[in-house]
Amino acid sequence: MTSSDWDSMDGDQKLERARALADVTGELERYVQLSHEQAGTIAHYKKMYDRASSLARIGVWECDLANEQLTWTDGVYDLFELPRGVPVVRPDIVAMYDEESRGEMERRRAEAIRDGTSFAIDVRIKTARGNLRWLRLTADIEKDETGAPVRIFGSKQDITEQKAAQEKVEMLRAELIHLSRRSAMSAMATTLAHELNQPLTAIGNYVAGTRRAMIDGNLAPEELERSLSAIEECAFGAGDIIRSLRQMTSENPTERRVIDPNVVIREAATLATVGAGGVSRLRYDLGADLLIWADPIQIQQLVINLIRNALDATAATPEPSILVATGRENGMIWLRIDDNGAGIAPELSETLFDPFVTSRPGGMGVGLSVSRTIVEAHGGRICARNRPEGGASLHVSLPAADESWADLPSTA
Ligand code: ADP
Repeated sequence: MTSSDWDSMDGDQKLERARALADVTGELERYVQLSHEQAGTIAHYKKMYDRASSLARIGVWECDLANEQLTWTDGVYDLFELPRGVPVVRPDIVAMYDEESRGEMERRRAEAIRDGTSFAIDVRIKTARGNLRWLRLTADIEKDETGAPVRIFGSKQDITEQKAAQEKVEMLRAELIHLSRRSAMSAMATTLAHELNQPLTAIGNYVAGTRRAMIDGNLAPEELERSLSAIEECAFGAGDIIRSLRQMTSENPTERRVIDPNVVIREAATLATVGAGGVSRLRYDLGADLLIWADPIQIQQLVINLIRNALDATAATPEPSILVATGRENGMIWLRIDDNGAGIAPELSETLFDPFVTSRPGGMGVGLSVSRTIVEAHGGRICARNRPEGGASLHVSLPAADESWADLPSTA
């Protein structure tokens, strides 16, 4: 509008135009106000994000796949202890990962880009200031409209403290398992010594008898053969006990491997029932072709705990009987120990697997809690119930080892 347009207007027209202008100005003012508010909201959200990310020690990153250009939020700079905003070059950053983490991360990244999938891994880095840190890294793929991957993005969070706490818990758990093994061993020490003494004395007697017969010149070859077989049997019996003992007292945790649970159960039963009466109470109903991926010493300890509890529970039963059964169901290997003892006291039913729960005078109450720790660490479950016919039944299930693992080293 020119000034001559304005001049040619009458009063009403001028008023109307002035009103229209005022409306537009008002509209503009509202927009300015709104964008101020939005800028304020964005600044507020950024402040909230910065606070939350520094509290959670987390940052967000992305990488343009066309040129490998990295973009980080301040949180990621802080995690790597690099000055905020400095340009970051991917090969320099990848070099800060330890070798194993780097290999794993590059492999998972390549898979994610190839398949368009996301992933999460824990990696270890050495920061620019030389500190070692554990980071939890998550990553996802952004695709263009044709479905081609264009960007990889995700978060990085400092989990160093969680890792340290986790390692401590694992160390304490291993220590507790070892302590409970030692306590079971010391409880069995006297009977074990007695049990070992028997075959050794018998061997001595056979040797003395054979020597006497030889000196007297009346050692028939069949008699010599019989003595040697008896000596052999005693020596093997003692050897079995010593072998199981050596495992039980070993300080170091063993590796997991494919094992036949029945073999471990038999060994554990030898140790747990050593001494008068024990063996005769045990009956077996063991399934065929069972394999689990497990630490044999821990499984042995689990079975010893359960059998010793069943022995205790049946100590006063007139005709004590303990059934040890194994089988396979739905990809799980199960182990059941049934006894005809007094059954689990009702007041213990809720807390049976908690530490330091015991009804035995002098009992430590760690056997079942350690047993549960062992079972759960192997991805299994343990439960207890009283049998309708009397006595208790302890049921353990552990994931079966895959058929294809069968050619891995096995105790079977
Ligand atoms: P402890 O044997 O030192 O008492 P456990 O943790 O092995 O510790 O067992 C805890 C308690 O669970 C036992 O004191 C006993 O009361 C009960 N219990 C365990 N197994 C049986 C069983 N087979 N029959 C009856 N009670 C059992």
